[in-house]
Amino acid sequence: MSSEAIAREVKRRRTFAIISHPDAGKSTMTEALALHARMISEAGAVHGKGGRRSTVSDWMEMEKARGISISSTALQFAYEAEHGDGAPNVINLVDTPGHADFSEDTYRVLTAVDAAVMLIDAAKGLEPQTLKLFQVCRHRGIPVITVVNKWDRPGQTPLELIDEITDRIGLIPTPLYVPVGIAGDYRGLLDRRTGEFIRFTRTAGGSKIAPEEIFGADAAAESEGDAWTSAVEESELLAEMGQDHDQEMFLAGQTSPMIFTSAMLNFGVRQLLEALVEFAPPPEGRVGVDGTERTVTDPFSAVVFKVQAGMDTSHRDRLAYMRIVSGEFERGMVVTHAQTGKPFATKYAQAVFGRDRATVDTAYPGDVVGLVNAMALAPGDTLFTDPRIEYPPIPSFAPEHFSALRVTTADKYKQFRKAIDQLDAEGVVQVLRNDLRGDASPVLAAVGPMQFEVVTARMKAEFNVDTVLEPLGYSLARRTDEASAPELTRQRGVEVFSRSDGALLALFSDKWRLQFIEKEFSDLTLAPLVAAA
Ligand code: GDP
Repeated sequence: MSSEAIAREVKRRRTFAIISHPDAGKSTMTEALALHARMISEAGAVHGKGGRRSTVSDWMEMEKARGISISSTALQFAYEAEHGDGAPNVINLVDTPGHADFSEDTYRVLTAVDAAVMLIDAAKGLEPQTLKLFQVCRHRGIPVITVVNKWDRPGQTPLELIDEITDRIGLIPTPLYVPVGIAGDYRGLLDRRTGEFIRFTRTAGGSKIAPEEIFGADAAAESEGDAWTSAVEESELLAEMGQDHDQEMFLAGQTSPMIFTSAMLNFGVRQLLEALVEFAPPPEGRVGVDGTERTVTDPFSAVVFKVQAGMDTSHRDRLAYMRIVSGEFERGMVVTHAQTGKPFATKYAQAVFGRDRATVDTAYPGDVVGLVNAMALAPGDTLFTDPRIEYPPIPSFAPEHFSALRVTTADKYKQFRKAIDQLDAEGVVQVLRNDLRGDASPVLAAVGPMQFEVVTARMKAEFNVDTVLEPLGYSLARRTDEASAPELTRQRGVEVFSRSDGALLALFSDKWRLQFIEKEFSDLTLAPLVAAA
């Protein structure tokens, strides 16, 4: 394919993730988006509300038992935008695990997207997990579109929500539309750019695209009365405060276009798609570790951002998800794995959403492709066709949960060693060791405690090793150095470990212990670990 043709493919692509707290409506919104668009890599994954459970991966037994998703995959659909250039856009929605437990994957997904939709519940406003994920977006410079969902239910006022976001995270919302009707009485939107009223009509059970009618200001004032007047006043107030969309400030992460939706009624969903197409940036090239730049039309390259081991007997394999950075991907092409220099055959490239898979034949920058039986690949790895390129690794995240792992079958020690090294290399958990505990009982460190169960389950299923976990009373880690280690080791409630990447980590029982030690021994090296970068 010519580079002009690749450039066209790139230009029409948008790759994003939804960041939200559980229950804000991410699954419902995902379905609503799919309803408004034509599925490309459908794979039978999303079939309206009734099919909701099927959007949840049940890859592992554990997931099945809990009915939650551990995996993060991608959904691709075509959308013909009103403001587009005629050719449909290709939207990649990369799924973040949507449950209360947090894992390294949640963060890693955000290394694969170009924009994020921060979905908040109109009644609850900013919630803890939204905040955590938002910090990752800010750190990585990912522009954020804010969506206030559940506007069909009673909630806060638009100005209260705007103030909360401005005050708590310093992001300035720039509403593209102002809702007509308070939360709980969602009638439609005032389009701030045209001054028109977009009226929505409910469909039975919210199962269809909500019909829209457009009215001028006078007609809206007549039919909607005070609800319209308030919307106009809010819009004017926002304009006075300078809270109009500014593309440069949005891309710089300073402002956030804001939309009010009801994912359940499909209200405002089309407006969200339009905003993604109009404002979210298309995929861009990246810079390699040696400083060389790869533009999107250069030869093929991709970054692995997640590796998943199949535990289900019908899918007993390993999937690596790569985000394409440059060039055209054709299934069957042989690429090079930068970390080992070895060739990697891509015969079994798949689009994966939940448990459903479809074969992918071609893909372009911004797309996510699952590679089957990718035994050698780990998160952060680069794949390329010549010339060689290697992208910077995904940094490891600050763990908050720590457990010692012990093998209970005495003669399985060698297997245990092998399994631990493998899970460490895959980035499932961070593995910490020190002389005191010895090799037989390494300490696992993770962002979310569910990762520990993934480890014990895989130990058993793949290596036939029984293990037990012993939760440790540590809750935070700091990076330290050889000089500080002896003093730290002497302290109560502190333990020093080395991580497999060579970093020395000091674990603390709680932040008070850390604060006390920092005060007592001000010359010790205790650097915060990057939450995610
Ligand atoms: P997730 O945990 O973020 O994926 O949230 P879900 O999509 O599962 O939604 C959580 C609950 O909120 C479900 O009962 C949904 O039906 C409901 N819900 C989602 N969006 C809306 C909405 O726009 N309005 C109302 N009233 N309920 C919603």
